[in-house]
Amino acid sequence: MSHMFIPGPVDVDPDVLEAQTKPMIPHRTAEFEKIFRGTEAKLKQVFLTENRVFQPPATGSGMQEAGVRNLAQKDILSCVNGAFSERWYQVAVNNGKQADRLEATWGEPILPDALADALKKKTYEAVAIVHNETSTGVESPLKELATVVHEGPGTLILVDAVSSLGGAKIETDEWGLDFVLTSSQKCLALPPGMSFAAVSDRSLTKAETVDNRGWYFDLLRLEKHRIKNSTPMTPSMALIWALDVQLDKILAEGLEKRFARHAAMAERVQTWSVEHGMEPLAPEGYRSKTVSTIKNTRGVDIAALNEFLLSKGMRIANGYGDLKNKTFRIAHMGETQMHHVDELLEAFETFLKKM
Ligand SMILES: *Cc1c(COP(=O)(O)O)cnc(C)c1O
Repeated sequence: MSHMFIPGPVDVDPDVLEAQTKPMIPHRTAEFEKIFRGTEAKLKQVFLTENRVFQPPATGSGMQEAGVRNLAQKDILSCVNGAFSERWYQVAVNNGKQADRLEATWGEPILPDALADALKKKTYEAVAIVHNETSTGVESPLKELATVVHEGPGTLILVDAVSSLGGAKIETDEWGLDFVLTSSQKCLALPPGMSFAAVSDRSLTKAETVDNRGWYFDLLRLEKHRIKNSTPMTPSMALIWALDVQLDKILAEGLEKRFARHAAMAERVQTWSVEHGMEPLAPEGYRSKTVSTIKNTRGVDIAALNEFLLSKGMRIANGYGDLKNKTFRIAHMGETQMHHVDELLEAFETFLKKM
């Protein structure tokens, strides 16, 4: 077996990789537009939304930029509880926004009460939240957070779902999420290079009032072209061929089954860690379904472990930033199956016995 347990890029099924070798065609043609319209329709099903879904060539970080640049003239509340939410805050500041921070310790979720307090102190145009902090394996309670945001006066809710969308259930419409972004290379199990964002009507209405939206990530320009089943820039054609095939596979598996598979793998890894004298970094109830971050309480040499795993064709991820060697991360997202996880944990146990 050869399998990566890292939180992106993840393994891509051979038939999906193969789909990328289809010939290029001109993108301003009916033939391309039909396929592009089809992938948007399927993406809407995965995002659980009737909102438009943009599919530009970019990565998730690009869509982080699109969100903050278009959806607030000035005031943003950035919820920060790990590396990717920290990045989103920096993206907002670098785009000239007045971003305030609502912080939680790395390893902790953003909680509704704290968000409600912050929103009482000041009116924000938008709140930015990372649903699943890939650096710490923490899932914040998005539905409850969205409820808090909706109590405010027209504040938009922007969600980075890069490491959860397609692996954990996110009810874009039901929860009233205005901007939900993700990348191709995580739970959707595609090669990197494409991003997706489900965008509400009220987001586009807001964007009309925001200056300096730029060009590449201007949501109104993207919308103008989306209506014609295209993008302002050249689309990532090879990736779209792969996307078309992969979305069919995702929908054939069934979304509920896909979410249940991810949850079962998370439960398996997290229970295993406790049985082996370790424990997840995240508190119970807030543990990620797509990437388990485990405290390295047994002092495992992560580099040596990975060398051992690589000899069997597998690899995991070390902790992120300051959490390197203090934690390690086992991602179980995309097309990873329980039998892959079983094989990984068996090898991990062999390594522990030799320590
Ligand atoms: C990976 C990741 C990103 C960055 O995505 P890119 O596609 O590499 O730009 C952003 N947010 C989260 C939560 C991630 O896991």
